[in-house]
Amino acid sequence: MSNKILQSIINFTKNYKDPENNSPFDQNNSKIQIVEKNGNVNISLTINDKYLEQYNKIADLFKEGLNNLEGILSVNVALTADSKLNNSENNESRFKINASNIIAIASGKGGVGKSTFAVNLAVALNQLGKKVGILDADIYGPSVPRMMGISGRPEASKNKKLIPLESYGIKCMSIGFLVSVDTPTIWRGPMVMKALEQMFNGVEWGRLDYLIIDLPPGTGDAQLTLAQSSKLSGSIIVSTPQDVALADARKGINMFKRVNVPILGLVENMSYFICDKCSEKHFIFSNDGAKKEAEKFQIPFLGSLPISKDLRIQSDEGRPSCIDDPNGEIAKKYLEIAKSL
Ligand code: ADP
Repeated sequence: MSNKILQSIINFTKNYKDPENNSPFDQNNSKIQIVEKNGNVNISLTINDKYLEQYNKIADLFKEGLNNLEGILSVNVALTADSKLNNSENNESRFKINASNIIAIASGKGGVGKSTFAVNLAVALNQLGKKVGILDADIYGPSVPRMMGISGRPEASKNKKLIPLESYGIKCMSIGFLVSVDTPTIWRGPMVMKALEQMFNGVEWGRLDYLIIDLPPGTGDAQLTLAQSSKLSGSIIVSTPQDVALADARKGINMFKRVNVPILGLVENMSYFICDKCSEKHFIFSNDGAKKEAEKFQIPFLGSLPISKDLRIQSDEGRPSCIDDPNGEIAKKYLEIAKSL
């Protein structure tokens, strides 16, 4: 790295102060990281998302000012949320919602059917006469709008809260309505936390019996913040039966244990395939992998759901199985799970 260019960058950034603690962004400030290569500058600022607006302004000023310096070809500024900082605030009171039960649906991996499960469970609970909302917090692929057959933007109420969109009697709010999924993850970090907070506090949820949260897959910052901040009544972990998916589900189980969120149970999705021709059950991955895992961790096993072409078509076309085929095998399984909660 050219010392001269780096020095000129620091001479510029040190004129600006961290909105959180007023310390200048100079070489002694650990919250700024500068990397320069062949005139291309990458700056990373560790931020407290409480001051997101001010940091965004500083990022713009850095880009504008540094682009004018001699020898600089491009400038990138990334804001990354400091989870320790943000979590040190009183998380208990950060996310508030008037729901008797808040249940997070989690998975170690993507693509195991977590959203399909969240949507059908919400519908099944509603069919049992409960007032239900679904909050789609899956930043990597919000799929609730598609699976519930909703499109459009939520409107604001008189007291400037977002009105959730309603489908099949369920109030729905999705991160997909608030943050563009095309935004790179590194930029989304702080935005996501703000958006998640808005999905709790800034939405007219009304009084709910159940709020079902479709968590992003994995055990990263967003999952941990949600688990800690939203006073979860419990969590349900969805896994497929094969070992690789179960290994990741284990991480999820441990995360909820660490933050003292009760695990209501483990569900095995895509457990087996029922052949159209011979009506026999084929265990494609392995038999009862999740069930054995639940026994090992001493958590309830809520049931296994088959791999089904109809279910895939129904959920991808916005008609949850419990709506489209309420008397079918799959809908009955969901109703059983809903009752067991
Ligand atoms: P995740 O939320 O874990 O990423 P999704 O619920 O989005 O997973 O499911 C991924 C894909 O798999 C979707 O196309 C969905 O329709 C399909 N799918 C989910 N569960 C089943 C199942 N039991 N049988 C067949 N397809 C399923």
